[in-house]
Amino acid sequence: SLTLGIVGLPNVGKSTLFNALTSNDVLSANYPFATIEPNVGVVPLPDARLDELARIFGSQRVMPATVSFVDIAGIVQGASEGAGLGNKFLANIREANAICQVIRVFDDPDVVHVDGAIDPSSDMETINTELVLADLQTLDKALPRLEKEARTRKEQRPALAAAQQAKDVLDGGRTLFNAQSELDLELLRELNLLTIKPFLYVFNADEGVLTDEARRKELAELVAPADAVFLDAKVEAELLELDAESAGELLESIGQPEPGLAALARAGFHTLGLQTYLTAGPKEARAWTIPQGATAPQAAGVIHTDFERGFIKAEVVSYADLVEAGSMAAAKSAGKVRIEGKDYIMADGDVVEFRFNV
Ligand code: GDP
Repeated sequence: SLTLGIVGLPNVGKSTLFNALTSNDVLSANYPFATIEPNVGVVPLPDARLDELARIFGSQRVMPATVSFVDIAGIVQGASEGAGLGNKFLANIREANAICQVIRVFDDPDVVHVDGAIDPSSDMETINTELVLADLQTLDKALPRLEKEARTRKEQRPALAAAQQAKDVLDGGRTLFNAQSELDLELLRELNLLTIKPFLYVFNADEGVLTDEARRKELAELVAPADAVFLDAKVEAELLELDAESAGELLESIGQPEPGLAALARAGFHTLGLQTYLTAGPKEARAWTIPQGATAPQAAGVIHTDFERGFIKAEVVSYADLVEAGSMAAAKSAGKVRIEGKDYIMADGDVVEFRFNV
């Protein structure tokens, strides 16, 4: 499954956040047979629709979709110079599908900031610089090969042009993610470049920042078009120790409508380009993860590969229509349940039953 790699400078709260991500036992309760790697934190994607479906269908349990975060250890500054832990750091990032950078915006005289002061843009710069340098190295190695190929094979010319264009962007100090509108990312795919990966920023904040709309807006604009999530990593860790009522009180006391991990799960899901569809029955109400733009047979394949191969059709009703009708039978007689074929592109919140041959 797709993962987001957590990176950041020392002392920004990565471990604190990662501990919160891994001590989330909602998951081990729901997925008792899942083997979870020690450096992977799996967070459920909050989805109130599942509880409603469970009520309508009398389901015994709900199974939310999940988002996986990988803790990326190793040095940041100087990583592109390639020694030991720096190499490992870059190799681990290469394996992740998106990059989640934690940036410190909390004030605490007891916690030393590596660069001496809180400066979000400088934190971003530091990570970006290492990744940009690593990508430039990759391109410097690849370009002679691409040039040679383009000389003998005309159809390789676009790939060479894309790589040269990417080099120009990186030489200008920009990430490929930030230049995505100018680039043909598909042609660069095989180079497995780092700065092409989608970014997500987590601002590890204190109450002052969390409740300061203007400051949040300013920080969100700093990282746009990437998603920004604001949370207090220390509070997130505490929330997991509390019962629902005390957790609610703690959140209210810092002016937050929901745990930061919920927002982080949503943003992670969005950054990875994923969406869900829903199934429901007496056993379970469940959200399934698919890429945005997936077709009905591809969606069926997430449940079981046989479902994709033997796909006949999908019976689809939108969540809103189903809830309005009150039951599947009522939705059917109201004409709200559509029969969709193999070219149907799934919409978020489709409630589906697949018909297939085995
Ligand atoms: P890492 O080096 O990025 O993994 O950072 P850690 O998670 O080890 O955190 C460094 C220090 O900052 C620890 O003493 C944490 O307790 C503290 N810390 C982490 N998050 C917060 C926060 O949101 N607020 C405050 N005040 N301290 C934090």
